[in-house]
Amino acid sequence: MPLVDLIGIHKSFGTNPVLRGIDLSVHEGQVVALIGRSGSGKSTLLRTINGLEHIDDGVISVDGEKIDARDTDLRALRLKVGMVFQQFNLFPHLTAAENVMLAPKVVKKAPQAELRALAVEMLEKVGLGDRLDHYPDQLSGGQQQRVAIARSLAMRPRVLLCDEVTSALDPELVAEVLAVVRKLADDGMTLIMVTHEMRFAREVCDQLVFMHQGRIHESGPPEQVFSAPQTEELRQFLGGIG
Ligand code: ADP
Ligand code: MG
Repeated sequence: MPLVDLIGIHKSFGTNPVLRGIDLSVHEGQVVALIGRSGSGKSTLLRTINGLEHIDDGVISVDGEKIDARDTDLRALRLKVGMVFQQFNLFPHLTAAENVMLAPKVVKKAPQAELRALAVEMLEKVGLGDRLDHYPDQLSGGQQQRVAIARSLAMRPRVLLCDEVTSALDPELVAEVLAVVRKLADDGMTLIMVTHEMRFAREVCDQLVFMHQGRIHESGPPEQVFSAPQTEELRQFLGGIG
């Protein structure tokens, strides 16, 4: 059974159809990259998986938690799914450790010592065990994004969604964040990521999904998708960025 299963997902904003029948199955431990032009619906798709967007039609299931267009309470879905954004959105008045502890504290009401241990574990995972008590403005952009990843992991999601997590970073800070994502992939985390880092996608992903005008236009193993694109749209997209 797939860990994440999307069946016939439709979503419009007003009269603008943004997702036009998305079917996608992601198995545990798989790493999937979403690519495609700006406006093709990649972010909206991730946001529906996280329950940040209500869908008009279709069924989303994550780790057995099934949500369809009629459901209005998307909290259960959110607990299964972590998400990291282009903008890190850390709380500036909280330290790295406090940022990581916040959601577990509010949602799980765990005792302080347990929360602190969790923060240490998660920040060590992203290579920031020595920055526990630093505030966001004392950290580089790459370090802040790694704290944001640690914060998502602290809720022990079944799948982590990454939406262009390196796009807001200075070029010299991209590699340290990609290294963390790669390690998560190596450790077996299920990942669905929107990325423009084609070399990274090629090396790390099991499946590449090309979105075009709200549909999955082409998908497959990265070598196949890159070396033998089947459609003119994908050829143009790859040509434009290559
Ligand atoms: P991508 O991430 O591939 O660039 P998005 O999912 O962000 O694409 O956007 C797809 C389309 O949906 C775009 O036309 C965008 O303008 C529109 N859109 C996205 N979010 C909203 C929103 N909250 N309200 C209205 N339109 C939106
Ligand atoms: Mg986007």
